[in-house]
Amino acid sequence: MSNIERTLSIIKPDAVQRNLQDQIKQEFKNKGFEIIEEKKIHISKEEAEKFYKVHETKPFYNDLCKYLSSGPIIVLSLQRENAVMENRKLMGATNPIDAKEGTLRKKYGISIDKNSVHGSDSIDNAKIELDFFFNR
Ligand code: UDP
Ligand code: MG
Repeated sequence: MSNIERTLSIIKPDAVQRNLQDQIKQEFKNKGFEIIEEKKIHISKEEAEKFYKVHETKPFYNDLCKYLSSGPIIVLSLQRENAVMENRKLMGATNPIDAKEGTLRKKYGISIDKNSVHGSDSIDNAKIELDFFFNR
């Protein structure tokens, strides 16, 4: 039984600034992800606030939105079997210190805020987040 899904990945400003996008895209391909769509964009703080609205009440919300809008990002629509969960596994824990060996955040993340990649956390959120960046 195949369960092909799509999920949203973002290569965050810290990784784009260090020119890691090709390396990170290769990591997705090595794990069987197909890149369906991608674009490099620089979003405003207001757009970042919309994207991260679920975190509105968190103490890190303002800094997070400032950060995501601080420089160019690469947004990717990734497809494979169980894409949402497989991408979360490949990314690793939110804090690079806690991320397992071989995960993207372990390899490339600098700190809990500059953790190099975003990935949708559920199938429903993947749809919402892909719409946000690709169908507007
Ligand atoms: N974040 C942060 N400080 C925290 C927790 C999260 O700066 O204490 C940032 C971090 O960049 C993270 C993003 O907020 O990737 C969204 O947090 P979430 O808990 O959804 O983690 P994720 O789903 O990205 O692993
Ligand atoms: Mg999250």
